[in-house]
Amino acid sequence: MAERRDERLGRRRLHLRLRFLAGESTGSYVTRLAARNHLPVEGMLRSMGTGPMLPVEPQYTEMYLSRYARERLANLAGHPLAEMQKRLVGLRDEFLMPSDAKDDWEWPWDARAGYIVQACSLCAAQRGTRSPAWLILPDPWHVCLRHRRWTDNSRSTQHPYIDLSSLPDVIRAQQRLNRLGKRLGPAARWVFADACSILVRSNYLEDPGRTEEWAPLATQLGEHRVRPLAQLSRLSLLTRDLAWLEVRRLSGELGRAGYREWLDRATRRHGFAFREPLKMWHSQHPPLGRGIPELFGDQPPPSSVVQRVTGHELPSCLAAAGDLSCLPWLRLPNTMERLFL
Ligand SMILES: [Zn+2]
Repeated sequence: MAERRDERLGRRRLHLRLRFLAGESTGSYVTRLAARNHLPVEGMLRSMGTGPMLPVEPQYTEMYLSRYARERLANLAGHPLAEMQKRLVGLRDEFLMPSDAKDDWEWPWDARAGYIVQACSLCAAQRGTRSPAWLILPDPWHVCLRHRRWTDNSRSTQHPYIDLSSLPDVIRAQQRLNRLGKRLGPAARWVFADACSILVRSNYLEDPGRTEEWAPLATQLGEHRVRPLAQLSRLSLLTRDLAWLEVRRLSGELGRAGYREWLDRATRRHGFAFREPLKMWHSQHPPLGRGIPELFGDQPPPSSVVQRVTGHELPSCLAAAGDLSCLPWLRLPNTMERLFL
């Protein structure tokens, strides 16, 4: 027999509010909100309904809530629900627990979508948090441009972040990806995913430890942690070149000549190893009779329309690159889930 909720609890906001951290996971936010108010997490959970009183470990997985618990959490935090859902992706409808679930929260063994990545501790400190905070992101890494730090899902306590101040190419690559992201709107994720897939197929810097540039870092941190860092620059340039074609194609402005010339240009830029995967991508992205320029406007068209024209659904905010690419070669760029369990 399920416990009963004490509905008198969780109606009013806690004494102290918490500043949001971009990309934070629900589990991390709940933990920080409790700590900020000097409450044990269990005490706060009791105000959010009923469920398992397990140790809360936001570094391992995401916490999912029922509709009831989500509303109570918004009350406790002192923000409107719409604001909470905007700031914490894990509270969006697609991640709600099923309405017939017996509990109000759960911590599944793995996040259902996305990766748990440690937040930049300087960004967290600016929001009043000393202990590690955790993000839930579609990729297993995060670049803080403000503090020039790379964090990932390694959970290493010895090297919780990688300092990028001596790696300006990585900074530039992230800035380039951010610019492309703004320009491409909803198409950004699938263009990036296709670039990831092309990169994997070309074997580019698969073993960064064998290069002079990356060997010291690979020895220190392990090849698997250094690989995405070493590849990011090339990945951003590939994304830029795919974006050139895809923006014109989706806007209905790609002419036959522009389409034809693209392949040679891109192959020359990236080198022979990329020729075959670029060719395949190119053949799958011919000019469209009628584009879908609305995609780049403020109001993207419904997913069904996008899918019909582009062959891609509007991606969910945590969809992994592996689920979005229309090319076959992608494996996850860097899987280290549960390395330390
Ligand atoms: Zn930061």
